[in-house]
Amino acid sequence: MKVAVLGAGAIGANIAHRLAVRGAEVVLIDGQAPAAGTSGASFSWLSSFPQLAWAEDPGRRALRLSVNARFDRLSEELGGDWLDWCGTLTVESAVPDFDAAVARSTEAGAQIEVLGTGDLARIEPQLRLPEGERVAFELRSGWVDAPAMIEQLIRVFRLTGGTLHLGQPVTALRREGGRVRGVTLADGRQVDADLVVNAAGASASHIAAMAELSIPMELVPGLMLYAGAGAPDLPRHVINGERWLLRPDRREGTAIHWRGEGLTALHGNNGADGPAMLADVARAVPGLRGLRPSRERIGIRAIPFGGPVIGALPWLSGYYSAVSHGGIGWGPIWADLAAREILDGEAVPELAGLRPDRFYMDVPGA
Ligand SMILES: Cc1cc2nc3c(=O)[nH]c(=O)nc-3n(C[C@H](O)[C@H](O)[C@H](O)COP(=O)(O)OP(=O)(O)OC[C@H]3O[C@@H](n4cnc5c(N)ncnc54)[C@H](O)[C@@H]3O)c2cc1C
Repeated sequence: MKVAVLGAGAIGANIAHRLAVRGAEVVLIDGQAPAAGTSGASFSWLSSFPQLAWAEDPGRRALRLSVNARFDRLSEELGGDWLDWCGTLTVESAVPDFDAAVARSTEAGAQIEVLGTGDLARIEPQLRLPEGERVAFELRSGWVDAPAMIEQLIRVFRLTGGTLHLGQPVTALRREGGRVRGVTLADGRQVDADLVVNAAGASASHIAAMAELSIPMELVPGLMLYAGAGAPDLPRHVINGERWLLRPDRREGTAIHWRGEGLTALHGNNGADGPAMLADVARAVPGLRGLRPSRERIGIRAIPFGGPVIGALPWLSGYYSAVSHGGIGWGPIWADLAAREILDGEAVPELAGLRPDRFYMDVPGA
């Protein structure tokens, strides 16, 4: 089976890798470069707290609980230095109903220790909080160097026989009757395929429109600030603060996601003044005092209505959607499940509520 995967972000690279390792002939196509999209401007956090306190259906919950083990396996499979289980410190004021959220997440399977000011000073001396403020310490959590993961996925993908086309966006889906047969690139080249996987992130609805399909989604900007390269006293953990998230970054010292409000399933505003935001972070992280951001970047979150869109459509063969927010953490899971559907012909039950036909009231041609 020949598969064309569109988009070399976290989701497309994981799917291309998994399909190739499992024996498919795969072409991975990106109009720009690997990690040029949202995956290159992401906080890339892996954590269970406070996410396990959210109301979720049990199937989704079970998948969420499998994230850490899947990343361990992927890291072993790929090699390379892109996964950091450094642990997360979530500040009490970042989570509404902190004690209840700790209790619910613990019951659901998260391993969390609540620390007072004394223990915090020992574990993370680079974080200064007001006296008495507690933190939830989740040891088995961390972050992914997403561009490095994608580079490693693509390296293994190519060693497995996969083909990579970069720098030419897909401009058309080629169709014959009710079947997608491949894609056309901007330079006129045609790539034949038995199946086209749409993993184009924030541009996925644009690709879908090429086959008169729709993926209703919100495009929500998110600000990333980078600061502190070479600075000696920076935090070693992910810090989930009230208005921001901070993590170590190998190239740039720290990466900060400015959130502007407590972590909820919705997302906060971006603000506009990078240096002022960094000064706010530096009140709790003295190692950043007096520094300016070395870089600011806005990433576009593609958030499909009603959750991820993973699966095929009953009336258009040769086409498969793979679009999801939280795509760094969910990417390896969607890749495993999509490979089972694409290569084994299975209808994976965990994907039942996520299929793209949920957006249609009447199935065309039915
Ligand atoms: C500020 C911020 C913080 C985030 N924090 C987290 C987090 O902590 N944890 C987490 O799991 N997720 C997080 N996310 C979300 C996560 O980053 C995204 O869900 C993920 O990166 C999406 O990956 P993707 O592969 O779908 O898309 P992308 O990485 O955007 O990849 C899509 C690719 O498709 C290519 N493309 C587009 N159009 C075409 C075309 N016509 N032809 C060919 N190629 C095309 C693009 O060039 C791009 O490389 C965050 C996002 C933001 C913005």
